[in-house]
Amino acid sequence: MKDLRMKCPNDHEKMVIKKSEKRMTFRGIDLKVPIEHYFCPQCGTKAGTVNQTSAIQKGVSDTYRKAVRFLTGREIAEGRKKLNLSQETLAKRMNVGIASIKRWEGTQIQSKSMDHALRLALRGQSAGDICTGNRSFSIPRIKSLLKQFESVLGRHILKKNDKMLFAAKYLWYADMVAHRELGESMTGSTYAALPFGPQLNNYRDLIDNIMNAEESTAEPLSAEEKRIVNRIALKFPREQMVYDAAHRETAFTKQPIGAIIPYSDSSELREV
Ligand SMILES: [Zn+2]
Repeated sequence: MKDLRMKCPNDHEKMVIKKSEKRMTFRGIDLKVPIEHYFCPQCGTKAGTVNQTSAIQKGVSDTYRKAVRFLTGREIAEGRKKLNLSQETLAKRMNVGIASIKRWEGTQIQSKSMDHALRLALRGQSAGDICTGNRSFSIPRIKSLLKQFESVLGRHILKKNDKMLFAAKYLWYADMVAHRELGESMTGSTYAALPFGPQLNNYRDLIDNIMNAEESTAEPLSAEEKRIVNRIALKFPREQMVYDAAHRETAFTKQPIGAIIPYSDSSELREV
């Protein structure tokens, strides 16, 4: 352990390890996170190594997950190994990307629905759904997501008589990128490959309901989801850009016309 030889920068003798608990508020929850750092008994200088700093990040994540009764990163990894599953097999079983499993076993905190799906998968059941991207379908959330796009883009994309030609492309990217990076879509929508691009399945029956939906009844978008919306809006400031990009995606082009585009292809997106 090289760490044990850490010297005080003021040329004193070697520093000692101090363990304590740090109180902090994280996502509205009061936590006591175990921390460890070096301390010089002569002058009081404190220092942390890179390992200690990343241990604190992991401590925050796992202490929070314990407090809200989610599986911790270690519990996920241990549960997976007990079943003799690779990260890849668990990812397939849940219809998420392998990157999501790696992040959850590290410091990224899963959502409540993904925590549920993880528990099912680690019990040997499958909870993933490749048509809805692991989330229940919510029309108010579609409205709320479109409003978020409109506020970033600074113009209307939800229009009465354009068959959601452009709105559907923004929605598709948001749902697919969220599935790829967070393990679940934002709206639970199912998309079909139509001649004019990826489109909400049965969009004709949905348009009026979306226009009239009350977005305040939807589960609010998380900070991670808003970041994804911002990225997509910055990438495609004009409607024609999102339309053209969607037409270039193999996740779209490989499907026969009329087929459902599965969320399991979210890892194939190239433009975002
Ligand atoms: Zn010192």
